[in-house]
Amino acid sequence: MSVVRLEHLTKTFPGGTTAVDDLSLTIGDGEFLVLVGPSGCGKSTVLRMIAGLENVSRGDVFIDDEQVTDWAPKARDIAMVFQNYALYPHMTVRQNMGFALKLRHMDKDEARQKVEETAGLLGLAALIDRKPAALSGGQRQRVAMGRAMVRQPRVFLLDEPLSNLDAKLRVSMRAELARLHQRYRITTVYVTHDQVEAMTLGDRIAVIDKGRLQQVGTPEELYRSPINRFVAGFMGSPSMNFATVELGGVPDRVTLRLGGQEFEVPGAVHRRPSLARYLGAPVVVGLRPAAFSLAESPGTATLAIVPLGVESLGDEKHLLFEAPTPGSSTTRVAADDVPLTVDESSGTQLWTAKVTQHADLTIGHPVPLAVDLRDAYFFDPVSGDAVA
Ligand code: ATP
Repeated sequence: MSVVRLEHLTKTFPGGTTAVDDLSLTIGDGEFLVLVGPSGCGKSTVLRMIAGLENVSRGDVFIDDEQVTDWAPKARDIAMVFQNYALYPHMTVRQNMGFALKLRHMDKDEARQKVEETAGLLGLAALIDRKPAALSGGQRQRVAMGRAMVRQPRVFLLDEPLSNLDAKLRVSMRAELARLHQRYRITTVYVTHDQVEAMTLGDRIAVIDKGRLQQVGTPEELYRSPINRFVAGFMGSPSMNFATVELGGVPDRVTLRLGGQEFEVPGAVHRRPSLARYLGAPVVVGLRPAAFSLAESPGTATLAIVPLGVESLGDEKHLLFEAPTPGSSTTRVAADDVPLTVDESSGTQLWTAKVTQHADLTIGHPVPLAVDLRDAYFFDPVSGDAVA
């Protein structure tokens, strides 16, 4: 069991790309920490610096208060599982899993017992004498996990280990990973760009953008109280919708204008201490897709929107529409029922609403949408920081 501490970790590659920028983070003993962020934000580089596979430009890596920044990978007692599994193709499952133990000159009987025990745990007992070519993607993934587990490392590093699996297998492997972690509680750092994986697996999640740590917290904290617009947009699927609006009214009755309509901001929301500063000034409102519902009929507190796309997911529908601007109504008449198309070049922004599967929607036909502002988020239009 181990604590991993990163202090001001920085990586600048030759050529000048700063992939990781002054990142400080402590991963607790037995914790499952997920690093998430968009492609190229520096997740793998962080992992590789913890493993010792990449030199650190500045800052330090500590394991259990021991500074290991310049230690060779082998000396760190860390196991890393890669996206492509990196199994030895000429070795059987048994040999792949036992290889690290052989290198350590572990007693043969003890090593055999360890490998068989771990193979059994991962449901690989019947496949133990097969070579990787004769295994499915999910089975290979389990061998890669098993190979890391037999060593009982101080720290587990996993770099998108499920990304090569089909959707169904990914779900079952996710559950398996969670179960293994429950049982062994090895300190784990897990990289993914899939926020569903992050939400379901992480004790805590660290969100990174452009090499900088944005926020670290439990899945619930990140979802409910994102520190800025980036984190808010990253956590939740489909993502949060944003628009710059102006808050009107008086301190006791705050309103915002959207799509040419005035919406009253509920008291519990507008009583947030910092929001008063934005009265009469622009502020960014963030609305999750679930904040919308189909209204029975058009009214004063509905958005008149034109569906540009309808995605049926079986038990719910995602309705895509053009982001309403504060002043003008969003209803545009679709001539002869011809669906409106989004003009990519003009940068038209799409919003998404999550509605019930029974919603009767036709592309191009206007519908009234009710907006629930109880779950509205607000952000400063310049800094992007959350208005708390
Ligand atoms: P992905 O999710 O796409 O795997 P990531 O978040 O893991 O991305 P990294 O692989 O850590 O991102 O890369 C971070 C940045 O550093 C990227 O801009 C990448 O192009 C750059 N980079 C990575 N490795 C090198 C290298 N060896 N030399 C130069 N630049 C590199």
